[in-house]
Amino acid sequence: MNICNFAKVIISRSTKDSTSINYFNNPHSRSEQNTLTPVYNSSVSLKQRHENYSLFMHKYPFMQINNFKLYCQKTARIQEYVTNAKYYENRNQGGERETFINHFNLIQWLKISETERKQHKLENCMPCNTTHIDISKIHKSVSETSIQILNLSEQIVENVSSILPTSTATKGKKTAQALINVLNPLFENQFRKSFEKSAAEALHLSPIEKSADKVKNELTLLKKNKIQIIEATSVNDRDVENFLASGKSFKQHDRERMHLYESKANAEKETKIRLEKEQKGQVVHKKHHGNFSNYTFNKEEFLVEIKSLMEKGIVNWTRLAKKYDVTNTITGNKPQNAGQVLFMFAKANGIDIMSFNKHKAVSGRDILRRVRRPKKKIMKKLSIPTPRSSKTFKEVIKQKLADGTIYLGNQIAPKTVISSSISKEGNLTENKVIVYSRIIGLQKIILSELSRLQKSGILLVHNDEYYDTLTEDEIRQRLQFLGEETNASCQDMRLKLKVIERTFKLKMWHDHSDILNHSYVNFMTTILYDAANFMTDNEYQTLARTTSTTNVQSIVEKPQLYILGRSASKDIDQISYTEARIEDLKQLTNKIRYGDIDLIFKLRLFSGDGPARQFEAGQQRGGNFSCICGVENLEDRRKLVVEGSSWIKIKDGIINPFQNLKKEELIDELEERGVDTFHLNLKSRLQEELTSVLHGYVDPCITYDTPR
Ligand SMILES: [Zn+2]
Ligand SMILES: [Zn+2]
Repeated sequence: MNICNFAKVIISRSTKDSTSINYFNNPHSRSEQNTLTPVYNSSVSLKQRHENYSLFMHKYPFMQINNFKLYCQKTARIQEYVTNAKYYENRNQGGERETFINHFNLIQWLKISETERKQHKLENCMPCNTTHIDISKIHKSVSETSIQILNLSEQIVENVSSILPTSTATKGKKTAQALINVLNPLFENQFRKSFEKSAAEALHLSPIEKSADKVKNELTLLKKNKIQIIEATSVNDRDVENFLASGKSFKQHDRERMHLYESKANAEKETKIRLEKEQKGQVVHKKHHGNFSNYTFNKEEFLVEIKSLMEKGIVNWTRLAKKYDVTNTITGNKPQNAGQVLFMFAKANGIDIMSFNKHKAVSGRDILRRVRRPKKKIMKKLSIPTPRSSKTFKEVIKQKLADGTIYLGNQIAPKTVISSSISKEGNLTENKVIVYSRIIGLQKIILSELSRLQKSGILLVHNDEYYDTLTEDEIRQRLQFLGEETNASCQDMRLKLKVIERTFKLKMWHDHSDILNHSYVNFMTTILYDAANFMTDNEYQTLARTTSTTNVQSIVEKPQLYILGRSASKDIDQISYTEARIEDLKQLTNKIRYGDIDLIFKLRLFSGDGPARQFEAGQQRGGNFSCICGVENLEDRRKLVVEGSSWIKIKDGIINPFQNLKKEELIDELEERGVDTFHLNLKSRLQEELTSVLHGYVDPCITYDTPR
């Protein structure tokens, strides 16, 4: 009877052994010692022993005997098998029974792996006939086949190891290798999978790689990893966004990026070592061009031309490459180093290329190897992931500008700026560059701000139906809350509330600042907070069900960039913005449609320094609004100005004609206005007098051709 040996011993012995039962019951306090003396308790009934066995095997269905009657039958026979000495090798004269019981009892069962326990089967047990065959074989119940396999295996191991050299240290490994080599094709034939692979699968081993393959695979994985890191940092061009928000210059970005490259000294050292190796012939010089046959261009014609140029000694290789249309035959691309290709092609055809461009050779580029700083390496053939370069950033930005992802506003107020640079030859050259300022239309700002505020949930904009359904009391309450008069008819109040709540005010802020020695003007704008348009702090807190205090005004009044451009605080510079601003403001006279509601926007407040404020109000400069100088009659004012002769300068673009007048001019101006200047000797007194006569008036508004 071929029954699992563990079942045999557990049924016949362990089910009545209190040591084993204790061991089973206390999984956390199991002693590590191997020999636990069994204490058999003969008073345990068969019924109890069946229960014990069922408990031991409740996780292993192949080992269970659920039927008590069947269990009783089996127990009787198994008892005989395990106990009777005749069933053991040598009739148990060498203590084989004890060895057998000690190997297959409950304690040992609990020590083998869970995976193996699941493999044991009550009948025809595989692990008992293979894994445990060396012990199983001492019992006569062992199957003939198992014994045969065992004997065969012993023979194979012996035979194979006998033909191998006798170095004990590696013999085991070599025998195994030899066995594998023999078994591989046999397995391949029968199971379409080598023994090696099948064994690896059976033992849950990862496939064995050759050391070189392992390194290669690791490198591939690391390289993939590196690319993933780079891609993750540049996904959706977040790196460009970060860069633009950082305030860094492109140069600074590249400079910082160079920290990830080898130092110049190291790179020079490496290049030198490489050069020496090349000279010794230890390594081959890396060509920066492919086989010349891979490039399409008229080679004969080129060689003729280059020979004719030798006398002159000056060649522009890049231009020649363009002329000959050097093309990569395989890819069809124009190689970036086409000039270098021609240079090397000429060299290869025996032309003394060093005789060309001798004036440039000072830089050493044609003679010495250019030192290229490589990226720092994590290991051989693996460089550290580096951020994208400014050059790439610029490309991305250009593209984003073109498709409108990045909006810079409209160009206004062109100014000619002189930028000076020093040429290669050492000459100072001046280039005139037109620089534009940028304006982001108020309408655009307003719409984006409204949607931002709506998202924040603080914007109060209601449709017509809302106002129609308000009761008189509600309207009155709301108006009172907003500090408005309420002694009007219901309909009037309704209309009033609607207008008040749909009217927004804009604040403008204006200042000058220097950035890198250039003067800039900057206009910022923001919607003003008003309880008529936005929730109050309390309302917001109640609605948002938050205990934290929120300042709604600070959410609303977030400054938005309106205009930014180069501008000195000179009048002529400042006034160049007036035109563009008025054009933009004109659009605000129309209502702004937000959703299906028309909103009114009014420019209400302006903050900035003195001159800036005057430009805004047009009181003294700009000439767009009547001024506040005290002279009420426009015609009187005009006469006052044109009585003199300096005002004519206005036509030449001088905005403030009464400023910086010479002493004689001051006298003329005053005399022409009937002031006796005889007793006024000092220039400062003359200026004071003129200012007084003109009522401090310097605004040429009424003298413009088109007073606005
Ligand atoms: Zn078994
Ligand atoms: Zn005035």
